[in-house]
Amino acid sequence: MRAVRDFINSFFLVELIRGLMLTGRYLFSRKFTIEYPEESAPKSPRFRGLHALRRYPNGEERCIACKLCEAVCPALAITIESAPREDGTRRTTRYEVDLFKCIYCGFCEESCPVDSIVLTRVHEFYMERRGENIITKPQLLALGEKYEEQIAADRALDAPYR
Ligand code: SF4
Ligand code: SF4
Repeated sequence: MRAVRDFINSFFLVELIRGLMLTGRYLFSRKFTIEYPEESAPKSPRFRGLHALRRYPNGEERCIACKLCEAVCPALAITIESAPREDGTRRTTRYEVDLFKCIYCGFCEESCPVDSIVLTRVHEFYMERRGENIITKPQLLALGEKYEEQIAADRALDAPYR
C-alpha cells in the first residue's frame, strides 16, 4: 500500500509542489534576512563593542585614574599608570586596553564612578599589524569624542534601569 502511495506521490510531483508552495508562501512574507554590511540589525543601548574614554562637555577628561576598571577586569586587559598633574588632580599617563584579552563583559564600564570608560556600539574593527590590538589612551579619547553623541544617548536610555 505504501509503495502505491509513494508511486502516486512521485508521479504527480506532490513533494515538489508542496516545496514550491512553501517557497511561495515565504516569498511574500516579511523578510528576516538583511543585506549586511549595507544594512545592520538594530543594537541595544547596552551593546558592548569597542571601548572609548569620555570627556566632560568642557573638554576635561572624565577619568580620575582610580583604577577600579583595571582591578575589576577579569581578563587583565586594562593597564593604567597615573600621576598627579600640576593642578594637583590625578590623571592617567597611560591607559591601554588589550583587545585580544578583552572578553567585552562590560565590567570596566559598570565599575567606573564617572562614566569614563564605556563600550560603544562599534563592532566592526580589525588589526593589520602586531601590536594594534593594544588600544592606547589617545585612541580611546578620540573614539570617545567621535561617538560622544551616541554614547550619551545610550546612557540616557539606560539610566532608568541603573
Ligand atoms: S569589557 Fe571586561 S574584559 Fe574587556 S576590558 Fe572591560 S572589564 Fe576587561
Ligand atoms: S576609567 Fe573610570 S574606573 Fe577606570 S580608572 Fe578611570 S575613573 Fe577609574
